[in-house]
Amino acid sequence: MPKPLTDQEKRKQISVRGLAGVENVSDLKTNFNRHLHFTLVKDRNVATKRDYYFALANTVRDHLVGRWIRTQQHYYEKDPKRVYYLSLEFYMGRTLQNTMVNLALENACDEATYQLGLDMEELQDIEEDAGLGNGGSGQENPHLISPSPPLVLSACFLDSMASLGLAAYGYGIRYEFGIFNQKIVNGWQVEEADDWLRYGNPWEKARPEYMRPVHFYGRVEHTPEGVKWVDTQFFEGKELRLKQEYFVVAATLQDIVRRFKSSKFGSTEVVRVDLSTLPDKVAIQLNDTHPALAIPELMRILLDTEHQTWEKAWDIVTRTCAYTNHTVLPEALERWPIDLFQNLLPRHLEIIFEINRRHLERIANLYPGDHDRLRRMSLVEEGDQKKINMAHLCIVGSHAVNGVARIHSDIIKATLFKDFYEVDPHKFQNKTNGITPRRWLVMCNPGLAEVIAERIGEDYIRDLGQLKNLLEFVDDDSLIRDIAKVKQENKLKFSAYLEEHYKVKINPNSMFDVQVKRIHEYKRQLLNCLHIITLYNRIKKEPNKNWTPRTIMIGGKAAPGYHTAKLIIRLITAVGDIVNHDEVVGDRLKVIFLENYKVTLAEKIIPASDLSEQISTAGTEASGTGNMKFMLNGALTIGTMDGANVEMAEEAGEENLFIFGMRVDDVDAMDKSGYDAMEYYNRIPELKLAMDQIAGGYFSPDQHDLFKDIVNMLLHHDRFKVFADYEAYIKCQDKVSALYKNPKEWTKMVIHNIAGCGKFSSDRTISQYAREIWGMEPSLERIPAPDDPRQ
Ligand SMILES: *Cc1c(COP(=O)(O)O)cnc(C)c1O
Repeated sequence: MPKPLTDQEKRKQISVRGLAGVENVSDLKTNFNRHLHFTLVKDRNVATKRDYYFALANTVRDHLVGRWIRTQQHYYEKDPKRVYYLSLEFYMGRTLQNTMVNLALENACDEATYQLGLDMEELQDIEEDAGLGNGGSGQENPHLISPSPPLVLSACFLDSMASLGLAAYGYGIRYEFGIFNQKIVNGWQVEEADDWLRYGNPWEKARPEYMRPVHFYGRVEHTPEGVKWVDTQFFEGKELRLKQEYFVVAATLQDIVRRFKSSKFGSTEVVRVDLSTLPDKVAIQLNDTHPALAIPELMRILLDTEHQTWEKAWDIVTRTCAYTNHTVLPEALERWPIDLFQNLLPRHLEIIFEINRRHLERIANLYPGDHDRLRRMSLVEEGDQKKINMAHLCIVGSHAVNGVARIHSDIIKATLFKDFYEVDPHKFQNKTNGITPRRWLVMCNPGLAEVIAERIGEDYIRDLGQLKNLLEFVDDDSLIRDIAKVKQENKLKFSAYLEEHYKVKINPNSMFDVQVKRIHEYKRQLLNCLHIITLYNRIKKEPNKNWTPRTIMIGGKAAPGYHTAKLIIRLITAVGDIVNHDEVVGDRLKVIFLENYKVTLAEKIIPASDLSEQISTAGTEASGTGNMKFMLNGALTIGTMDGANVEMAEEAGEENLFIFGMRVDDVDAMDKSGYDAMEYYNRIPELKLAMDQIAGGYFSPDQHDLFKDIVNMLLHHDRFKVFADYEAYIKCQDKVSALYKNPKEWTKMVIHNIAGCGKFSSDRTISQYAREIWGMEPSLERIPAPDDPRQ
């Protein structure tokens, strides 16, 4: 039998089009040794694995640097429109392998490290994930980080903007501590600081020469020469999150203005004297409301520094800025108390008041006497404590507002932003999210990428719509066999990983049923949990039946201050403890809580999954991107008609997903008629049994009332109507189990899903942002590689 290919060998057969570099192993070795010697100042007697990782990272980085400088020169010469993507979160994951894959260097590096007696995969494992999200602020506001997506999305978008030749810049915060590391201790989540910079970061370059001041506090002076914000202090104190938001905005806008003013104009190098043409040259995309202060900050610059009239300044701001909404959950919508603003950013508050005055004047003219409408649409919310509604600020200050999946964009027009849609319907758009096929297929699942390329060629990686060509082969036994084989290999690999790192043994022939995402009530890990308990009770009752074996894996972080989410984790681990140690059950059902879910773990588990759980209450998940990653990697989806699941069903055919439960209309109707959890509890015996077990301490023998808060919530104040979808979910899971017994039919369905993935490339998403919001034209043309022997 031929020796199976390694992951690197599989990737070797695929090169991302147009990026195939010269694979010069001997050059790589020379440069590796040069970095070990001159950059790390070590020789091979004293070098550690980490030194080798850094030497390799620096070697690969050199290849990026040449291209990066060439790209900047190209932009400087051509002066294209720039897009600035502002986000408080960038979940970048690791960079080394991604860079090697994108520059088609991986195979050469693998060979070079092999010749040096090193194992490249082992070196790659030393890299820390860059999890630049807000791990800490959940302490103050438990809902702040949780419902807004951990924006792996932003990282996908950067990849696509680069692939599509857009002059794009991501601006965010380089947090010293990323999103916390999750440890599971006695079944509970414990947060640990993510000291990701401890050993340094080879993927960054500090630019202290571009340092700019950022002002806070102080007071506003209206002088004959204009308005001045004076006596500002440097920050310290409590309002950390608002400071972070202003910090990123203030620094970014200074950089945008600097670049705008110093770039060429046509063929002549001129210093632009004013910002009147800013919207022709600059697009600013606000990723959620977190960078909303860009709107008053740009107004402040235009008014106080550039001395523009209000009308002119407002025209520039609104033509430059655009806003993406990511959630409809009310607790996730940012509202900042005016007192805090007044103290920290007094000039911005003044500007916001004036924006609001003019905005309300316009509304009052359109709807004379409609005072309730004015109240609803105001940027200032009245109440015990007056607050600024940041979403309203974003809508008023932008020329485009978009949701992130069709159903979500429709919902915001019909509910959350209805009043705004009525007055400015032209502003509202949809941009269905996507994922980068480079990271989420070629890099993480080279075996599958190769099987696809063998059938339809490799151009699909940059033009994911071509995946539909796979449909020609849907009845082809060899494709069915190859797809099933890759999945089985990925499952074996992940099983080995779990055994090595977590000391758990799982049955690689069982169905891998996976729900990985933030832990949140709306995502309904509890519904999954009730299914687990139901399966368990059924197996116990009829142990000799031909059950479809399942390994159910759940992973995700809970916001540190979100009590219910943390208790949900405890329930999952408790159920696992009972189920996994029950000898009657054996390996027909196993429940694993995957500790510390992050990008690197996603890259491992998703290619190994059979079933993807996307079971949020209809109308609550704006889009989801995890759903797309699973679909592209050959898992079938069990899900509600929510977020992007709706479009996934449309693309793959609804018969190729396991769709169940209430639709948005049903949920709305139930909100009107009233949701009565007790009715379901009393009527459905298996549900009652599961709930009685949780409530009675079956899963927590040492502390019977451990889960009382969850039980009480589910029975009496469940905003997400878990019980209303229980029966449909269980029935649908029965269908899943039945189909899994027929591997050929299962795999055919998988092929329909992969073939339907074309829409969910972030290349498509970004092309639409470029054309329909930013006024830019994407292109696959490459900037010529620099005159560097290494390229
Ligand atoms: C993709 C991804 C998410 C988003 O998952 P959803 O299911 O869309 O909520 C969250 N965390 C990580 C690490 C991811 O890779």
